[in-house]
Amino acid sequence: MTALKIIGYIAAAILIFFGVLFIWGAFSPTGSTGWIPVGIVSVLIGFGLIWFASRQKPAAAAGENVTLKVDLPANVNVEALKCKSCGGALTADNIKMVAGAPVVTCPYCGTTYQLTEDPKW
Ligand SMILES: [Zn+2]
Repeated sequence: MTALKIIGYIAAAILIFFGVLFIWGAFSPTGSTGWIPVGIVSVLIGFGLIWFASRQKPAAAAGENVTLKVDLPANVNVEALKCKSCGGALTADNIKMVAGAPVVTCPYCGTTYQLTEDPKW
């Protein structure tokens, strides 16, 4: 979790907390109905912040998972790569370089096979 993300979640919690207080307060005898839109906006911004913070991919985790940078030949289109065993969509993360050759490990059926450079993709 990055510092920015933590700040985002804390700000969101504060906004939602005060937003709920505003809406709640609007129904109290001393409250004003004008607080309701203020509270709703505050809660919405709070949830917006959570949504935004949850979209942020932690850069550290990505660096840990991908230890080996896959350098595929230019003619291999990773976007359209499919498992030849089960037809599941594969990504560059499923390909590892073994002895200089790209080897695919299918996350769906567990098949491991070597990628050929046959330009049928
Ligand atoms: Zn498969």
